[in-house]
Amino acid sequence: MEVKTSLLDNMIGVGDMVLLEPLSEDSFLENLKKRFDHNEIYTYIGSVVISMNPYRSLPIFTPEKVEEYRNRNFYELSPHIYALADEAYRSLRDQDKDQCILITGESGAGKTEASKLVMSYVAAVCGKGQEVNKVKEQLLQSNPVLEAFGNAKTVRNDNSSRFGKYMDIEFDFKGDPLGGVISNYLLEKSRVVKQPRGERNFHVFYQLLSGASDDTLKKLKLHRDFSKYNYLSLDSAIVNGLDDAANFRTVRNAMQIVGFMEDEVQSVLELVAAVLKLGNIEFKPESRCNGTDESRIKDKNEMCELLGIEQSVLERAFSYRTVEAKMEKVSTTLNVAQAYYARDALAKNLYSRLFSWLVTRINESIKVSDAQAKTRHKVMGVLDIYGFEIFEDNSFEQFIINYCNEKLQQIFIELTLHEEQEEYIREGIEWTNIDMNLHLLSNNQNGILAMLDEECLRPGTVTDETFLDKLNTICAEHQHFESRLSKNSKFLNDHSLPHNCFRIQHYAGKVLYRVEGFVDKNNDLLYRDLSQAMYKANHSLIKQLFPEGNPSKVNLKRPPTAGFQFKASVGTLMKNLQTKNPNYIRCIKPNDKKASHIFTESLVRHQVRYLGLMENVRVRRAGYAFRQAYEPCLERYKMLCKRTWPHWRGPERYWLEERRRQCLHDLASLIQKIYRGWKCRSHFLLLKKSQIVV
Ligand code: ADP
Ligand code: MG
Repeated sequence: MEVKTSLLDNMIGVGDMVLLEPLSEDSFLENLKKRFDHNEIYTYIGSVVISMNPYRSLPIFTPEKVEEYRNRNFYELSPHIYALADEAYRSLRDQDKDQCILITGESGAGKTEASKLVMSYVAAVCGKGQEVNKVKEQLLQSNPVLEAFGNAKTVRNDNSSRFGKYMDIEFDFKGDPLGGVISNYLLEKSRVVKQPRGERNFHVFYQLLSGASDDTLKKLKLHRDFSKYNYLSLDSAIVNGLDDAANFRTVRNAMQIVGFMEDEVQSVLELVAAVLKLGNIEFKPESRCNGTDESRIKDKNEMCELLGIEQSVLERAFSYRTVEAKMEKVSTTLNVAQAYYARDALAKNLYSRLFSWLVTRINESIKVSDAQAKTRHKVMGVLDIYGFEIFEDNSFEQFIINYCNEKLQQIFIELTLHEEQEEYIREGIEWTNIDMNLHLLSNNQNGILAMLDEECLRPGTVTDETFLDKLNTICAEHQHFESRLSKNSKFLNDHSLPHNCFRIQHYAGKVLYRVEGFVDKNNDLLYRDLSQAMYKANHSLIKQLFPEGNPSKVNLKRPPTAGFQFKASVGTLMKNLQTKNPNYIRCIKPNDKKASHIFTESLVRHQVRYLGLMENVRVRRAGYAFRQAYEPCLERYKMLCKRTWPHWRGPERYWLEERRRQCLHDLASLIQKIYRGWKCRSHFLLLKKSQIVV
């Protein structure tokens, strides 16, 4: 059967991998490369969009392109992210199906850009009018605000999202946007106080110092010079192609559009300044008569002035720690090292609470009004969450991020492959099961997260080492867990595996985790003395961020651990996603240099493997991308063919197999003739027993 279509153009490769002949990993890669070299960054696997990061701006995101893709069928035009967005939006509007857009790929692969392209496409094609436009503007402008506070330059990506984001956009029955809700997942707050070499702190710090007026800086008691602040890394403070000053103006403007009041913006900037000043607090020891040292703040610090806290209150919080046990308060002194630790803990907490407050505040602005919430509405969710990460030094944050990616991979497999897998078995097609690591990571009884929690809650001395000991006894047998110290360890002489580390074979590769900091980061506790000091501030926003510092609200209950909270929120997210029709964008990073025009084959091959794209194509080919059961197909097209019209014989089960095949065959040729001029795949295949393929 001849198929003439733009999807099969040999010059620029094949637009849909399902049609690639012959199919092998090599031909798959060759096809991706061919297309990439011709600026064709999108390729389909059926309805899944593969997106290659071009690392330069291409003229394919113009309003004219939006018009071109608007209301067109998925396969009519060359592959584009707009086609996916259009399909999702129309199916939401016309078929009443809630949609979710799941964007996956490693750090720097283009997820965040993809999510913004989808959102801007939908904004461009959905309803118009003053009210609707305001809602759209607010939804879109929430992006620069959250990026300023939640993104940073890393070695992988100059604008790396350091938090996970899921946004539900809600529409009325006509398909006009009503508002939205953003959920954020675990901000990498350790970055506030320390950044790996070659990386930066969150953008907002640099933006504020470069972009604020002299007057604003004076009010905030800040210097323009980054080098004055301990928390700002210097070696990579200036990033090529990133205009911090201009971005500051964009963010200010976006905050205004989203609906922040001027005094709220001021408060937020005060807290940003406070974090920088907190980082400059230094301590000196003061000897006590019992021979111990107690920390004292070295110099007067402007943070107290900025937030309206008496320095003596802050100093006390950095010198003593009060533990309440059995209705009794016991104070212990902090030495200088402990005071630095407390300072950094406070900075991290302050910043991450500020970030969560921003999300809540944005949600207040963009939420659907109560009256509208009562009417029936439809939802499109867009998930842009941190991609799989393997660094030189991997810690709790990477563990959590990679766990989340395993969950997403699992849901991808469940929804796209697994569902079809049953059919392959029925049709007698071979299939290998994909084994996931989730048991090892998150099983309630003996998963790593559960054991970390158990260790954190255990009385007695708990350290990262005791946690590792526990893993060594309990996980030693798991085939994807490796550690030097586990009993009968096969890895005894494996020097790539240091003593204080464990290694996990994730679906996307092996990752070596250093246990240092796991217990502490999971505990995520802030000394009460510090939250109480913050609560005493004469600054309403900071008071609001530390409600547990209110002395009249004594709550001895331990807050849930970071791991527990994360697992629960990922669980809720997965449930939410499962109720929606999924649309997948699989992002691929072409090289490690953030460079355009370079296609590093080995790197792409690795991603193609772990994203399971080959399996995806095989499954799609076996199942074919567009299927319809016989009966509705005949019902839809019966009038086209003499054999089926006007003597349509009713439900297909009354038909003889042979006659049915003939009818379908005639129908198929007819439909082919009709659609000949149509630039897309329009052939019917009658290969499968239970279905025909369009
Ligand atoms: P991720 O969210 O997957 O970590 P990003 O979406 O932030 O990655 O993309 C990283 C960088 O790659 C962007 O800052 C941008 O420079 C470039 N990039 C990504 N997608 C595109 C695109 N469609 N067009 C041009 N540049 C892009
Ligand atoms: Mg991102």
